[in-house]
Amino acid sequence: MSYITSDKVTSPRRHFTLIAVLDDGKTKDNSTGAKNVSIAVGRWKAGGTEKPVLAMRWNGDEENPIGNPQSRGLPTWFLVPQHMSHVILDRISLSEGKRQLLMDVASEFFAGPDGTGWICDKCGKPIRTAKDGVVEWVEFDGSKSHWKGRRMFVVHHLTASPLKKKRGDEGCYISQDEQDRAHTQTDSTPLDEFLGSDGLTQMLALISDAKVPAKDVLETIQRLHTPGFERARLYIPSALTEGLIEPNLAPGFYWQEELKCVLENYPEQDLAVAQGRNEERG
Ligand SMILES: [Zn+2]
Repeated sequence: MSYITSDKVTSPRRHFTLIAVLDDGKTKDNSTGAKNVSIAVGRWKAGGTEKPVLAMRWNGDEENPIGNPQSRGLPTWFLVPQHMSHVILDRISLSEGKRQLLMDVASEFFAGPDGTGWICDKCGKPIRTAKDGVVEWVEFDGSKSHWKGRRMFVVHHLTASPLKKKRGDEGCYISQDEQDRAHTQTDSTPLDEFLGSDGLTQMLALISDAKVPAKDVLETIQRLHTPGFERARLYIPSALTEGLIEPNLAPGFYWQEELKCVLENYPEQDLAVAQGRNEERG
């Protein structure tokens, strides 16, 4: 190899430890990866704490084996700010193995489009990373079902459910009893499978299948893919009443500017509002 490959780049050493190179810049058109971008995941240690970080750099070539950035003649990584990491991860395609590795060492990266996670529809408590969440839905099954209200929910995975003690294996899921009473059944998918480009495509396919009302899937897509939507949606009714925003899109859809305005005007107090939403569920 005519340049220092990214798996050999370990600086800035004082704070950074390389865990794995996710993309070494090699492509069909550029089999050496020279002058392409490499992306890696590492650990950043500072002030007694340690957290996963995404790192990037330009590979070198024969003339400039060190690539960029460099410091005192040593190749080094540029650390991607935390709030931008998910944007990159959403768009690069990773092998299943690399994706799994990332989930294991850096589950913080999978915390939604703005990095703040989600709010469980059942218990109202935060779901901090995608691996702690599940998307659950009540299937359409003709006229027999008495299910009322919304049919798609974002809830805790059993392993992360605060209701595990109280409700056992049912955790934050819709219980068997609730399903029996409404003559219906549920289906679910781990939340992380609905993230990224393939996740979005899968959700669009759900609309096409018409297994869940489109309105509910469209709301969930926004909760999983639109920055600010998950938290702002709790305050939107008040924001509308107070005339804080005057949306000009179809009901249920908001510009980024509007979501930002809602979040700035309603201090994050809690999830009490979310708790109130559970009533509509069985
Ligand atoms: Zn929950």
